[in-house]
Amino acid sequence: MSDPVGGRVMIVGLGPGDPRLCTPQVAAALGEATDLVGYGPYLDRVAAGIGGAAGAVRHASDNREEIDRARHALSLAAAGRRVAVVSSGDAGVFAMASAVFEAIEHGEPGWRALDVVVMPGISAMLAVAARLGAPLGHDFCVLSLSDNLKPWPLVLKRLRAAAEAGFAIALYNPVSRARPWQLGEALALLRAILPGTVPVVFATAISRPEEQVAIVPLAEARGDQADMRTLVLVGTEATRLIPRPGATPWLYAPRGSR
Ligand code: SAH
Repeated sequence: MSDPVGGRVMIVGLGPGDPRLCTPQVAAALGEATDLVGYGPYLDRVAAGIGGAAGAVRHASDNREEIDRARHALSLAAAGRRVAVVSSGDAGVFAMASAVFEAIEHGEPGWRALDVVVMPGISAMLAVAARLGAPLGHDFCVLSLSDNLKPWPLVLKRLRAAAEAGFAIALYNPVSRARPWQLGEALALLRAILPGTVPVVFATAISRPEEQVAIVPLAEARGDQADMRTLVLVGTEATRLIPRPGATPWLYAPRGSR
């Protein structure tokens, strides 16, 4: 609490689910916040495991109202509040940090003088990779399959480029209620470029009690194997799979992957 009268915006990511994967820095920020701003279920996670300041005011919102939520956080801080803007995973990966900076760039000039700090978190892809071995140990690239904020043909263009370049690929937001067909189309495109033997991981709710992991060859991967809590990880021709008795195989990218 360096300056009790000054407002502050702390942009934090809670990690993928397990409270132990929330960094101590983020936990401390939540502890000093007077206000928590974010998607309702993330605020519930703060209350359930990570522990925010007992008296913090919750400003829960719908998942699609990111810009309004960012502006609200900035006006609260301008009024002297210490606001934690809460995302899952890392706040800079398909999450609230960008929305806050958009709001600063296009909003009140006074917001540029606010004390704003972004704290890193453990993104889903890192938790998933650690769960499986080291599938992102060599060059990889990350895409969101959501076409809410970008046109679908652009998603396919980037996916094609990534596959042709030999990157392992982490796909966030593979499906939602409003976007049921995109993952199937993305997998069809990948099948046209990569061998059917390339491993595809469907990692759902990693580090939470309901965690599920499936590894299938690309030839057999289907769009209905994912839901909103799934990260899809597409390996490369170089990805190695080590079978294990009674356990999920290890997946890793050899250090000299081509
Ligand atoms: N900022 C978050 C990502 C938000 S986008 C991060 O850095 O992790 C939401 C997407 O993240 C989901 O659709 C899913 O693809 C992925 N995701 C988030 N938590 C996850 C988890 N515990 N297991 C698997 N995927 C997860």
